[in-house]
Amino acid sequence: MNSMPDAGSTVEIDEEKAAALTHDAREALERHFGFREFLSGQERVVSALVSGRDAMVVMPTGGGKSLCYQLPALVMNGVTLVVSPLIALMKDQVDALERRGIAATVINSTLSPGEQQERIRQMADGMYKLVYVAPERFRSRVFMDALKQVPIALFAVDEAHCLSQWGHDFRPDYLRLAAAVAELGHPQTAAFTATATPTVRDDIQKTLALTDPFISVSGFERPNLSLRVVQCEKKKTKFTRMRAVINAHRTGIVYCATRRNVEEVAESIASWGVKVMAYHGGMSDGEREQAQTSFIDGSFDVAVATNAFGMGIDRSDVRFVIHFEVPGSLEAYYQEAGRAGRDGEPAVCELLFNYADTRTQEFFISGNNPGYPLICDVYEKLRERADAKNEVILPLRQLADQVGAKNDMGVGSALSTLARAGAVQRFDVSGTRTRGTRLLRPELDASQLDIDREALAEKEQRDHSKLQAMVKFCYDHGCRQEWILTYFGEPNPTTCGNCDSCLSGQPSSGGKGGAAAGSGGSRGSARRRAPDDEELMIAQKALSGVARASNRDADGNWAGRFGKGKIVGMLVGSQSKEIIAARLDQLSTHGLLKSEGTAYVQILLRELEYAGLLETQMGDYPLLTLTAQGAKVMRGNREFELRWPDRSHIAHATTPVASGGGAIASIESGLEEVALDSGLLAALKEKRTELARDEGNKPAYTIFADATLEFFARLRPKTTDAGLRIRGVGPTKAEKYLEHFLEIIREWKG
Ligand code: ADP
Ligand code: ZN
Repeated sequence: MNSMPDAGSTVEIDEEKAAALTHDAREALERHFGFREFLSGQERVVSALVSGRDAMVVMPTGGGKSLCYQLPALVMNGVTLVVSPLIALMKDQVDALERRGIAATVINSTLSPGEQQERIRQMADGMYKLVYVAPERFRSRVFMDALKQVPIALFAVDEAHCLSQWGHDFRPDYLRLAAAVAELGHPQTAAFTATATPTVRDDIQKTLALTDPFISVSGFERPNLSLRVVQCEKKKTKFTRMRAVINAHRTGIVYCATRRNVEEVAESIASWGVKVMAYHGGMSDGEREQAQTSFIDGSFDVAVATNAFGMGIDRSDVRFVIHFEVPGSLEAYYQEAGRAGRDGEPAVCELLFNYADTRTQEFFISGNNPGYPLICDVYEKLRERADAKNEVILPLRQLADQVGAKNDMGVGSALSTLARAGAVQRFDVSGTRTRGTRLLRPELDASQLDIDREALAEKEQRDHSKLQAMVKFCYDHGCRQEWILTYFGEPNPTTCGNCDSCLSGQPSSGGKGGAAAGSGGSRGSARRRAPDDEELMIAQKALSGVARASNRDADGNWAGRFGKGKIVGMLVGSQSKEIIAARLDQLSTHGLLKSEGTAYVQILLRELEYAGLLETQMGDYPLLTLTAQGAKVMRGNREFELRWPDRSHIAHATTPVASGGGAIASIESGLEEVALDSGLLAALKEKRTELARDEGNKPAYTIFADATLEFFARLRPKTTDAGLRIRGVGPTKAEKYLEHFLEIIREWKG
């Protein structure tokens, strides 16, 4: 067995023993599950568990986590307890195990008390290898006592991020697990999750008191997904993009941040004649279940949904996932995007980004983080309203009105915090959707409650950082896949060659994900070079323009005041209403780069940002400002490299091109643009179809995207070198396909 890069583990596995077990494990894999090979990460986890170690396993949804504990369960002595919050999925898992002749069962609230007792007794008699339980089971004394009678081989906690307050799916019942594990005398314990950043991972590890766990992060790489972020200034652009994606790929999911948008988007899609269904939390359980089932069975092609949709969605032929708005975190984004292409075939994930949408996420963050004063107000209101049984039954909306809160979500979160602090208990009221609240310690006033104010503040801070990382991801131009892998802490991430950045020939800067995602970094590109004198001057003019449009604090840090659009307008001397209203025409830098033209200045600023001389900061709007390095260059330092836009093509750059993009491509490639010849384009497309067919009917766009073929037709590269300078042509594709296209272009007589 090769020793895997298990960051964080200090004890080496006994190699010899592990090798023997691994051999057995492979054989067992085939015998019990009918699989010939392990999926990424499974084998090393199985070995670690069989050798008796605790483990912390991070794998994406669909990565094959269950097998990691199911297989060891078969060869270990005693029962493997599997804790999972997804009662609906437990039954499927148990059925599947039973079909394979493995003794497994589930003990949960869907059983009658009689049945539960019966199964607990059978478990104590050692009749099962695997027992699935929901976390609330550990509240039961009877259950705990029964557990103490059985040897526990493994305590497996699935969806373990639910026990971290930093996770997006915290469940108070999960906190009970730590005490349960302790009471059972710390049996071997393993935590499994799909969405764990290093912080969440540490939290899980501490909470469950894992002993020197084997840590494994694997399987996040999804080479068949083409991740893309499309900047959408207007809502109309979003609809246009969405329609194009649906037309091209047919089956998929559109995620929206709010119910209102789900309804609006679903309606539009329906009006295009597409079989579409909507799904959100405002629907009844029955309606939701039916919607989910009819998407899975293929009655609908497109699902439009809030993030409530998809836990355990098992439709493997999802060809696209669109995010109509930016999600609140990369964890959420990737989990949702990851529902595309589970069959391993190519799929696209497109995020329609508009900075203004971050406000919706900010609203959710404030709803999820009510703040200490509101928590106290809610508590005192409950005490005031409680009946003789110390209960309050009041819809959230009304409770919110009574404490003068704008956002009922905040009140709901306050109640959860109070529940976690042991101050109240929530209960279902039969026949209504309103939940009741019972005061557990009515004699205490708010100030006497055990509420960790520091932790609350810290959580809010983290939610903001997660959103910020998400936004940085959207603005970044490195490889999307690599960014995500770094964020999740996968060792040695590589670029994917398949995302929008890779396809546009922007090589990655490496290791930009997560907390490290800062400004710029180095961008490897053939055409990066130091400035000549004239270019240095231009860069300095641009930088001083940005400096004039920024504030600087006493410590010398820069803070942006304007977005990129306004700064470009200022630099080229625009006299538009917005520029004048912002008084940008009053700055001495107004019009400083007038002779260079808007298209040039836009590209220049973008390149300066890639090079780490400028950065985008978050505020109500994205604001452009200088970095410390940019300030140095402004003052004369010339130690930097840029992909300099070619100034000799400015004339072409400013001629509008019908399909858009051509002008910029022309500047980027340094090729002269000619009018689009539809005959040539058709010939190129025909060649592409032919190549795709030769490669076993690959989807044509995986050869070259439509936009790339259009650039070929407009820019007519005739040499490999020229072709390589066009967006969407990387070295690999150039080697495989480019010559076929160059040949057509060279011979074209149009
Ligand atoms: P997770 O819990 O990580 O979301 P599952 O455990 O449900 O993922 O596994 C996802 C799918 O992969 C299941 O259909 C499972 O049968 C399949 N699978 C698991 N391990 C293997 C393997 N070694 N080879 C082939 N398929 C596997
Ligand atoms: Zn990439």
